[in-house]
Amino acid sequence: MKFTPEKYLIPDEPEKPFIDAEEIEKILKTARPEKSHVRDVIARSLDKNRLSMQETAILINTTDPDLISEIKEGAGRLKKTVYGNRIVLFAPLYIGNKCVNNCRYCGFRVSNKDAVRVTLDKQQIIDEVAALEEQGQKRLILVYGEHPDYNPQYIADTVRTVYSVRKGNGEIRRVNINAAPQSIKGFRVIKESGIGTYQIFQETYHPAVYQQYHPSGKKQDYDYRLCSLDRAQLAGLDDVGIGALFGLYKWQFEVMAMIRHTNHLEACFNVGPHTISFPRLQNALSVNIPEEYRVHDDDFTRMIAILRLAVPYTGMILTAREPAHIRDELFQYGISQIDGGTRIEIGGYTKKGIYQQNLDKEQFLINDNRSLNEIIDELLDKGQLPSFCTACYRLGRTGEHFMEFSVPGFIRNFCTPNAMLTLAEYLEDYAPDNTAVKGWQAIEKELTRLNGQVSKSEIRHRLERIRTGERDIYF
Ligand code: SAM
Ligand code: SF4
Repeated sequence: MKFTPEKYLIPDEPEKPFIDAEEIEKILKTARPEKSHVRDVIARSLDKNRLSMQETAILINTTDPDLISEIKEGAGRLKKTVYGNRIVLFAPLYIGNKCVNNCRYCGFRVSNKDAVRVTLDKQQIIDEVAALEEQGQKRLILVYGEHPDYNPQYIADTVRTVYSVRKGNGEIRRVNINAAPQSIKGFRVIKESGIGTYQIFQETYHPAVYQQYHPSGKKQDYDYRLCSLDRAQLAGLDDVGIGALFGLYKWQFEVMAMIRHTNHLEACFNVGPHTISFPRLQNALSVNIPEEYRVHDDDFTRMIAILRLAVPYTGMILTAREPAHIRDELFQYGISQIDGGTRIEIGGYTKKGIYQQNLDKEQFLINDNRSLNEIIDELLDKGQLPSFCTACYRLGRTGEHFMEFSVPGFIRNFCTPNAMLTLAEYLEDYAPDNTAVKGWQAIEKELTRLNGQVSKSEIRHRLERIRTGERDIYF
């Protein structure tokens, strides 16, 4: 079906869906995972080609344990060559949980009368952000329910508030959002506030299954949600994130649909999604979703290795929904961003004392309660390089431009040096002594293996400037 972006110039006019469930099921049914095919597909990915739906289906249908190990090894190799060992850190900040929708899996749904509805006011946002800055955070994703109160102007105002907060050397340098789909006009208003990524999950890409989980409210409209990133692109937001909520339908279908979504965005806007997310369904207040499609750990880790191979240039986000041991394993297969020090209780960052989950104010339960510094410690122990880099977005290296840059060498020349500089800031301003010692050792080690265009002496010079108090230096 021909896609006509002009249609989006009429705000709120949904385009015909580009997801064809029957086509996806058919490809999955017919893809044969013969050994030679599987190896060819892995090799094509290692050559940094995005995989087709047919190729992805071959990996998905692979059941031979040895071949699955080869898929995971391939993902690991790709991760090392394309992304290096840096892991970008961020934190979610829930702004408000009022919601007109009735998503059966979500604690915030309108029919859940046990949920305590909270919307942070301006001062509360400032206090939460100050607390996040005191942890050392530099990148946030703001999360909102879907409600007329959270209109584009409101969202834009909250983003501006977040950017305005300065606590000591702290500042938030990149604000992403996860919010309801908007019209093109609405997205323009939001863009003006200077967001980084606009992220939205289709939940399930299967149109009929989607209807079962969204029985009422605006979110019932599958097409309107599916095309929200097209409208975002037409509004000039070229940095977008896709995702599906795993546990609602077959994971194999959702992975294929995300590849289709990626193709669609590349074909129409010359730029694929900046990030892909794969949240797994978590327990939430008064939520009772059948177990049938729950994704078990083995399938989940395999699925992420397949996604790494299928979309070699797209950032992959793993959240604190996942327990530490799964997060640790998945670093090897290509996760490039994680949240750290996460509190999803609204107003949770300013609360003192031991963290206890409070389900009537939280969307769902999380499984990784570690503090940001604990996560940084662990990353360093495991040879990863924690990063708070925000350089690309601030230098306009986004969208199509970013895709151009996102070729081998780019990470070495920009991302790794920027990871070192932002880690150095963290070590100087926030880390306890033992983390600081480990962190500086990691930076030294990274410097010795660096072989990009940026000279080691230039990086050393900039690190020295950070040690003597300068901040926000980047390539
Ligand atoms: N309200 C907006 C929306 O629905 O797009 C944005 C915020 S919503 C709070 C963010 C995401 O949380 C949803 O897209 C959904 O994928 C995820 N989510 C909802 N309930 C969940 C659950 N029980 N477990 C894990 N993730 C969940
Ligand atoms: Fe509302 Fe989003 Fe939760 Fe659905 S997932 S009930 S839209 S907050």
